[in-house]
Amino acid sequence: MSRPSFHEDAACREAPLSVTWFPGRGQSTAPAVKICASCLAADECLVWALDHGDDLQGIWSGTTQRQRQRMRRAGLATHAVHSPYRLVPSGW
Ligand code: SF4
Repeated sequence: MSRPSFHEDAACREAPLSVTWFPGRGQSTAPAVKICASCLAADECLVWALDHGDDLQGIWSGTTQRQRQRMRRAGLATHAVHSPYRLVPSGW
């Protein structure tokens, strides 16, 4: 998978290597989610992640794979979404 164009502005580019972007069961998502919260590319990242379907793993725009699956099932149009810090209510 090639790097998406928004990656030039991505906060994750400068994240410590200790941050887990593909957490396994029982691993915290918090460090990655915290970095996403400050990312200038968060909106583009979320659209990109939603466009890549239910099989896309990892933390993208502060969302987990399961959260994105719920968003897709809820029918959120990718052209209308924004970073979860502005749109998605808690509990997603
Ligand atoms: S929102 Fe998160 S995963 Fe997406 S580009 Fe920014 S830091 Fe990386």
